[in-house]
Amino acid sequence: MIGKTFGSIYPPPLWHPHLLITRFRLAGYHPRIIKTAILLLFLSLTASAIAQTAASSKEVDAVYPQAHDLYVDLHQNPELSTHETQTASKLAVRLQNLGYDVTEHVGGTGVVAILRNGTGPTVMLRTELDALPVEEKTDVPYASKVRAKDEAGNDVPVMHACGHDLHMAALVGTAAIMVKSRDTWHGTLVLIGQPAEETIGGAKMMIEDGLFTRFPKPSVGVALHIGNDLPVGQVGITPGVYNTNADSLRITIYGKGGHGSAPQTAIDPIVIAARTILTLQTIASREVTPGEMAVVTVGYIRAGTKNNIIPDQGEMGLTVRTRNAGVRKQILAAITRITKAEALAGGAPQEPLIEHIEETNLVYNDPTLAQRLRLPLEAALGKENVITTEPVTPSEDYSVFIDQGVTSLYFSLGGANPQKLAEARAAGMSLPSNHSPFFVPDVEPALRTGIASEVAVLRNLLNRAKP
Ligand SMILES: [Zn+2]
Ligand SMILES: [Zn+2]
Repeated sequence: MIGKTFGSIYPPPLWHPHLLITRFRLAGYHPRIIKTAILLLFLSLTASAIAQTAASSKEVDAVYPQAHDLYVDLHQNPELSTHETQTASKLAVRLQNLGYDVTEHVGGTGVVAILRNGTGPTVMLRTELDALPVEEKTDVPYASKVRAKDEAGNDVPVMHACGHDLHMAALVGTAAIMVKSRDTWHGTLVLIGQPAEETIGGAKMMIEDGLFTRFPKPSVGVALHIGNDLPVGQVGITPGVYNTNADSLRITIYGKGGHGSAPQTAIDPIVIAARTILTLQTIASREVTPGEMAVVTVGYIRAGTKNNIIPDQGEMGLTVRTRNAGVRKQILAAITRITKAEALAGGAPQEPLIEHIEETNLVYNDPTLAQRLRLPLEAALGKENVITTEPVTPSEDYSVFIDQGVTSLYFSLGGANPQKLAEARAAGMSLPSNHSPFFVPDVEPALRTGIASEVAVLRNLLNRAKP
């Protein structure tokens, strides 16, 4: 058992060093031989302790074929956010067959699988379930050809362009190893299949459906995310702030419709929107303290139907990314001020409608936990394969679990083929990122590393009385 010292055991067991020396001496052995024997005994105990933490390649070999089959199946059959019904049931069936206590439909399509293994900490491992409205353009033989209806009823292509299929496959592989090796850990393992991460709503839906009241509440949580910034075999840890706060806004600007040839009879919302967009760009450049992370992006603008008609309203969608709570507040206030002022300047008949439609806090990696879990990851993957990474700009609703008091580590999993990554870097390029129609990880080594790292951190966390 890791973390238990000889000094804490009283009375000393038969194999306690002092008793061993006495026993060997009584048996007439030379002190040097006794010392060597004890050293060998300690080395073997240490080796077995490390072996208990890191999943052996044999353990990963045993679960890999099934994990890979699941990956291919999920990749070929992606489902959009909140519609992950088949995905959830595939996950649920496998976890149930492994012996987990599984509950489906937690917060929509969410899955909760629990494995109780004696007294000890409660630790959570989370995967996302959803795919994206992206048309796959990779050349893998199992590329998705799926199309589905989005929330607005549009027919859209669907692809696992963020790697959530690999996260699910890794979680099931890890789940199988944890069942087979119950003697290496104790406590309660809670596996979460979370819907609707891409639309930043699934974690909240699960919490509101009693994730932490109907089921054991974890004290510690772990999640990983695959990306093409790191080569396969490596994981990246970012202690402290991992990503950004995200806010999504929908703004409707009102005007007065009319004939395109007679602008004097109308109030043009397109011109007001155009001025608003440009002024919004001065928030990050002119208002926020230099050096503070601040992004204001207008991702779409929609107005009008025909070239000779002035529409009566226009709509635009914004995303705002920050790391500092004060800056976040400052930017949201500036957006409101500028949007209202530009509408007033343009003579709009009514104030613009500003809707705050989505928001999520940044993911914060507990620095002490990050430091602690670096050791089992290094033991599992090699010291050179656990690197410290800079914070990223994409956001994640995993922060909802952290905000509920689940101390966490959210780490990066290398997905890039090392040779392709080196070639791209040499050419000053990068490999297709998450959400690209060309996003494709180097599946086998990435999935193996994902499983090995999850097992390593879970065994470490589930071997401590107080994680
Ligand atoms: Zn994504
Ligand atoms: Zn993702």
